[in-house]
Amino acid sequence: MERAKESTNPIEEMGVLWITAGLGCDGDTIAMTAATQPSIEDVVCGGIPWIPKITFHNPFLALENGDDFLKPFHRAAKGELAPFILVIEGSVPDESNKPEGYWASLGTDNGTGQPILTCDWIDRLAPRAWAVVAAGTCATYGGIHAMQGNPTGAMGLADYLGWEWKSQAGIPIVCVPGCPVQPDNMMETLLYLFYMAAGRAPMISLDQQLRPTWLFGQTVHEGCDRGGYYEQADFAEEYGSPLCIVKLGCWGPVVQCNVGKRGWMGGIGGCPNVGGICIGCTMPGFPDKFMPFMNQPPGSLLSASAVQTYGKAIHALRTFTQASLNKEPKWRCREHPKGDTVNAHAPGATDPRQ
Ligand code: SF4
Ligand code: SF4
Repeated sequence: MERAKESTNPIEEMGVLWITAGLGCDGDTIAMTAATQPSIEDVVCGGIPWIPKITFHNPFLALENGDDFLKPFHRAAKGELAPFILVIEGSVPDESNKPEGYWASLGTDNGTGQPILTCDWIDRLAPRAWAVVAAGTCATYGGIHAMQGNPTGAMGLADYLGWEWKSQAGIPIVCVPGCPVQPDNMMETLLYLFYMAAGRAPMISLDQQLRPTWLFGQTVHEGCDRGGYYEQADFAEEYGSPLCIVKLGCWGPVVQCNVGKRGWMGGIGGCPNVGGICIGCTMPGFPDKFMPFMNQPPGSLLSASAVQTYGKAIHALRTFTQASLNKEPKWRCREHPKGDTVNAHAPGATDPRQ
């Protein structure tokens, strides 16, 4: 069983340095505040047993501002704050694709008075990080900003650092995609890394796209509330219907995401469960390969048509069986005072249950 290099010396205290200064909307940080499995409060207040003492440094959650907020980042860059997990939110721009100016930065260099580029922070901190996590689809694979033709040259963290990159603890980049990230997926992944740091968990299991396998191993379709309608070829023609929405543009059958099962907040919601088509936001090909949204996915034209052949027949048979099952067996009748049974099925008899 593979383990992180430091796992023989359990880590007792750990920082989380969370940079939201990639190209993004900060939605992953906002989503994370809704997590309950575990919540941020559980983690930072010591409510989770057997993990290191955790200190979060995230600009939306911090009490400090400006240079005070940046102090731990500077200390970590100098090797004075360790160990830490570096979390990157937002895609990484290509700062070399223009003669002047910059795309993304965090803070100002007090010596030069110039902005410190987000890329520079990654270059300084990633080599010293115990683990590096990409939060949300922008940081993992580029997302909206990396659409074809964008001027920023935006890319995901693995494209920037390299897909084979590993931290000083031997941990590959951990990608938790989603636009935004599903709150509990993010916090559960961090929790797993905390257990690893404490020497209580083996090396995190990641797929080829560096996603945690236990979170992204199944399709939306396999956990969707509407899966039964798909199987019976009950397809919605307009929004507001409880039926399967594949004809309205749902990509769930081929998208790896667990919100169909997990829900969104506290087990409630999850895109198709509540009527929103899946647009594939956890996938490396998002968004270009899923556009135009709201059109029926080309592949489902074939599969949904094939389902029509047997789905309608199966549904008709089930309706027939269901009608029978909705009636009690014939022998459940009240005994007649003379010992005879009230035969509700005798010619001319009236059975009030029918
Ligand atoms: S709504 Fe989407 S994910 Fe759900 S059953 Fe239909 S195609 Fe599958
Ligand atoms: S169901 Fe689809 S659109 Fe919704 S979070 Fe998952 S991948 Fe994204």
